[in-house]
Amino acid sequence: MHRAMMASFKWLIVLVGALAVAASVTASGQRPSASAQVAAPAHAKAVKRLLIRNAMVIYGNAKPAFGPVDILVQDGLIARVGRTPANDPPPDAVIDATGKYVMPGIVNTHIHLQDERGGVPQPFQYEMNLYLAAGATTVRDVGSDFAKATTRRAASAAHELVAPRILIYTSGWRSKGDSPQAVREGVRRVKADGADGLKLFGMDRDVLENVLDEAHKQGMRTAIHMAVEETTAKDFAELGGTSIEHFYGVADAALDGIQNFPPAHNANNEVHRFGRAGELYIQGNLNRQKLSAVLDLMVQKSVSWCPTLSIYVAGRDVIREQNLPWYKDYLHPTMEEYWKPDLQRHGSFFLGWTSTQEVRWKKDYQVWMDALREFALKGGNITVGDDAGFIYSLYGFGQIHELELMEEAGFHLLEVIKHATVNGAKLIGMEDRLGRVRVGYTADLLVVNGNPLENLRVLNPYGTDILTYSGKPIDNYTNIAPNDPNTKVAHGGGIEWTIKDGIPYHVPALMKEVKDMVAKARAERAKKGAN
Ligand SMILES: [Zn+2]
Repeated sequence: MHRAMMASFKWLIVLVGALAVAASVTASGQRPSASAQVAAPAHAKAVKRLLIRNAMVIYGNAKPAFGPVDILVQDGLIARVGRTPANDPPPDAVIDATGKYVMPGIVNTHIHLQDERGGVPQPFQYEMNLYLAAGATTVRDVGSDFAKATTRRAASAAHELVAPRILIYTSGWRSKGDSPQAVREGVRRVKADGADGLKLFGMDRDVLENVLDEAHKQGMRTAIHMAVEETTAKDFAELGGTSIEHFYGVADAALDGIQNFPPAHNANNEVHRFGRAGELYIQGNLNRQKLSAVLDLMVQKSVSWCPTLSIYVAGRDVIREQNLPWYKDYLHPTMEEYWKPDLQRHGSFFLGWTSTQEVRWKKDYQVWMDALREFALKGGNITVGDDAGFIYSLYGFGQIHELELMEEAGFHLLEVIKHATVNGAKLIGMEDRLGRVRVGYTADLLVVNGNPLENLRVLNPYGTDILTYSGKPIDNYTNIAPNDPNTKVAHGGGIEWTIKDGIPYHVPALMKEVKDMVAKARAERAKKGAN
């Protein structure tokens, strides 16, 4: 058992004693109750009254964990957080969270709904299972097939599709060109078609003015991928955009002049593009004062930042990203093929990738991470998105890696979890019902095997290695003699249940389905190869 939990259990015992409550508390913190005999919920089936017992709670707003307490979920909402009264009617299902942590479901603010890669089919359910398994209960799709996305959004909302809640930010508004009339009509058209927001790519200033002005009139939020354009984060902030994706645009606004592209640079070449992108923050003409001023402006104008740190990490360590242990069972062959170096595929730029290019990316990350930290300290809203499906980033796994990179940037793990929950909910305008463990909020909850505040990797769908002593998990800094035969390494962690709208999804069941999909696709590929 983890030290923090032991401390909390002791505290509970003291409290219960002080209040002279009759209920007895066992050494493990469990209270005997009528609900003890009720079965665990079925995977992916709605439960009217679901009781989560003995959970340590991470609320989402960065206040310290608290527990153990019970959480009652009723009709899809969090109905109670605290002790279960003795006369409480029995629940329909019980999750025993003894030794586990419960946190809000993750709001992933940058994903792409995908059912193919490079024109080759890949099961849509594969992506949805992985995101749920990694704890995403809400996803913001920032670019996919709009018609399919709206159908899937509705199916997810009706619980006919096993998937996180889906929001659609579309770039379809630009399909008729850049004239003021075309842009404004485009915004109104996608709004009428049911878009939740607009995805913008970098553009000339006059186009940005028109699209943001019309977005304001229509009450629509915007997410921008700046790339290297006439406009930068400064323009987007001045004109009242909602969120900046990735890193481009922010550094561009802080250069004295422009980036020093060599004469042969071709923005239509992925090696050129990604090679130079990794030098943006380490340009000699990056002006730190200007950078601070841009961050100030973003904060002042309430522009959020969804950095998607994880989608670029292969640039700084490609061999690691090519050889992750979860590929063995969980990498779909369609994705495997798509990631192979090929100049024609977006982000598959690892053709002769050099150690020097990796070093530049590593240094670039340091400055970028400092900027993120500074932005947050100034009061800026940072959210979690993984942009997976490209560049050796697999759905959901990328999202957990994103959290790890935020820890690397210097954030406390309570803050990291806030980025993934409260901040994401704020970005999409749903902070009054999503992102917190709080009575009255939507029951989007994760029941985690272990303490993510001790090790974020317990959130990874693959799980993680854990040090055990006589079969019990212990802190790996426990002072044990090197020759103590009671120490072992076990594979543990993982989210046990992802609960969305009160419906519990059993993560081992989701991952079993993923494994089966992958095995089936590989068998088909082998058969094709043999013919
Ligand atoms: Zn993206």
